[in-house]
Amino acid sequence: MDKKRVLLHICCGPCAIYPLTWLKKQGYEVVGLYYNPNIHPLQEYVRRKQALQEVAARLEVKVIFKDEDYDPGLYLRQVVFREENRCFYCYQMRLERAAAIAKRGNFDYFTTTLLYSKFQKHDQIAGLGRDLAGSGKVQFLYVDFRQGWKQGIKISKEWKIYRQQYCGCIYSEFERYKKLLTGQ
Ligand code: SF4
Repeated sequence: MDKKRVLLHICCGPCAIYPLTWLKKQGYEVVGLYYNPNIHPLQEYVRRKQALQEVAARLEVKVIFKDEDYDPGLYLRQVVFREENRCFYCYQMRLERAAAIAKRGNFDYFTTTLLYSKFQKHDQIAGLGRDLAGSGKVQFLYVDFRQGWKQGIKISKEWKIYRQQYCGCIYSEFERYKKLLTGQ
């Protein structure tokens, strides 16, 4: 029987380790998708991309890199004036793209490494994925990848994969480092 094909939206290298390993173990054919215009600045985007390339090489997984669509303005236009709900629009932007590419590529499912993070709004991501899939041909594959949180971190450290210090956008970078302004 042919393997079921999954398009996995990937936010970064460390978060991809457990979901990729798990999906492969379940017998899925997995292709990754790196589409993250939310990441600021460009140098950080490239660093995370390189980390993912290392992970993909080790796990022998093909990844589609949407570098031509790295446009910070795209992300900012999604969230401006509604910054308090920015994560919702950020998830939506990335999942919409994943769903569209999965449809075009005749995948059976799409899903995301955002379901791996303990710091993301897990139920909101799952709901968005299901809503976007609707009753279409390409279904959203919900997996609570948080079960592999510790395992993924352990392996990323063993492999010395770059681990980022903030979620990704300019707002999260500011929140992470604003203490520099007061010298604390
Ligand atoms: S904090 Fe993270 S999920 Fe939320 S908007 Fe910023 S990059 Fe996106």
